[in-house]
Parts: sequence; structure tokens; C-alpha cells
Amino acid sequence: MACIEKIYSVSALTGNGSCNGNCGFCAGKYLRPDAKENKLYYKNLEAAIKLSARYGGWSLSLTSSGEPTCDPNALTRALEVYDKCTKQGAYFPNVNLFTNGILLGDKEFCNQYLDTWKNLGLNNIAVSIHDADEKEQAKVYGLKSYPNLENIVENIEEHGLGVRATLLLRKNGVDNSKKYEQAVKTLIKKGIHNITSWPVGNPDNTRNEYTPSRLNIFGIKRWLYKNAKLCHGHVWGGGVFDYHGNIIRYTNYVTKHDPKKDFVRQLVVFQDGTVAYSWIKEGALCMK
Ligand code: SF4
Repeated sequence: MACIEKIYSVSALTGNGSCNGNCGFCAGKYLRPDAKENKLYYKNLEAAIKLSARYGGWSLSLTSSGEPTCDPNALTRALEVYDKCTKQGAYFPNVNLFTNGILLGDKEFCNQYLDTWKNLGLNNIAVSIHDADEKEQAKVYGLKSYPNLENIVENIEEHGLGVRATLLLRKNGVDNSKKYEQAVKTLIKKGIHNITSWPVGNPDNTRNEYTPSRLNIFGIKRWLYKNAKLCHGHVWGGGVFDYHGNIIRYTNYVTKHDPKKDFVRQLVVFQDGTVAYSWIKEGALCMK
């Protein structure tokens, strides 16, 4: 039986689960009944951050069962917990907010919150991209229009925060190597030089109706190995590549917890206060 040697990251759900998008395939809906805070949540968020930091963790991801920016005060409160941890020596080089980006197109919203979040330790904003073309992106999010990506980049960078794209690989969206190459090149042209991509799937890492075919995923990986240089691999699969001076990370959506492994990819902090070793709590409990 292996002991845990490393806990790479913490993913924390924040906010009331509301969302300004309306995607047909929303993966967060099943978590919304728990989208309210309690004192246990804050206590265990703090403990999870300290535990991962002690076990060599390098990132904190702030996410939601809806859209985290739709409940900005909850995000501030979660970052206040992180800020408290940093003052006690537990900090991460990467603190990322995962967002659909809709509100980041609004300068006033950015002026109101981004400096506060940055001062509390946020350093990157990762915008989920289903299509590098804004009109297509709007359709996926069920909106009339989606802000210009260049404006989003400008609004974020103006406050000294980094911009990343989470390029989601989805059937009938970006689902083969040709579309992948096109999307990567367009995102780079629009000013995003750090792109993470993964195929969408179920929280237990199984495939679902939106997951691209295995053959096409293989084609995307082959394109990366042919056209970019591997910088380092991830123990759970995929890795980080240098594509003409841009960072492209290919990974899988989540990692199923395996108690026989000596590492944990991420501690997930749920809003009922549970901390688990994966997005599926069953058989993966860490704190209660
Ligand atoms: S933006 Fe995210 S949370 Fe909102 S509906 Fe789409 S997938 Fe769900």
C-alpha cells in the first residue's frame, strides 16, 4: 500500500452556482444543490490549502458549479482564506480562476474586482474556450454575443494578471487535429500564449456523448508531439509543450483517485465542506 508523497493542487468550488451561460452540456449542474457556504467549508478550504502546500502542491484552482464570477463576493472570501494561508507560509506559485470569461469583457467589472483578487493572491485567469471565434463561442454559451477575446485579454492584463485559455475538446466543436491547430493559432493571434486543453468527459474520467472520438484525440496528441517540444510530462498523462514560444498543456479532464498511487492530482473542496481526492467523493474522502 503506497503512502501519499505529493498532492499537486487544490480545486475549490465557490459561489452560489448561478451562471450567465446556458450550455446544453453543463457539467456543473449536479453540484449545484450544495452551492451554499458554511463554516466547515472555510475551515476545510484552509486545511486543504495547507496540506497540499506541505506536500509540494503548486496550484490552487477556483471554480464553481456555475460561473464563479457571478458571485464575486464568494470568490473574494475564498481568496481571503488563501491570503491567510500565505501569511502562514502555505502558498502556491499558481492561483487560477476558471471562468467562462463573459464578465471579463466588462471593463467596469474588472476595475471593481481584479485588483482586490490580485492583492489576495490570484495570478491567472483561465477562460474556457469552446471556439476561438466569438460568434461560435456565443452559440455554445447560449448567448446573443460573446465579448471580443482581445478585449478580455486587455481587461485582465491591465490589472497585472495572466490570461490563459482552457481550450475544451468537444464533439462537433474542437474535435480533431485540424480544428485544434486552427484554434491554437487563432488564440495566439488574439494574445493568449498559455493554452491548456483537455477532452470533456464525466467527473470520473469516463467518456460521454460530448467526448471526441479516441482516434481524433490521438490525432490531436500526435499533432502536438510533431509540432511542439515537450517541456515536461504529467504523471497522470499529457504534459506541457513549447509551441513557438507559447505554452500548450495537454491533459485529461480529471484523474480518478487510485489509493495505490503515491500521488494525488488534486484535492477537491466541495461546498458541503467535504475535501476529496477526486471529483467523485466515493472512495476518495480526505476531510469531512
Ligand atoms: S458556463 Fe459553465 S457552468 Fe455555465 S452553463 Fe456553461 S458549462 Fe455550465
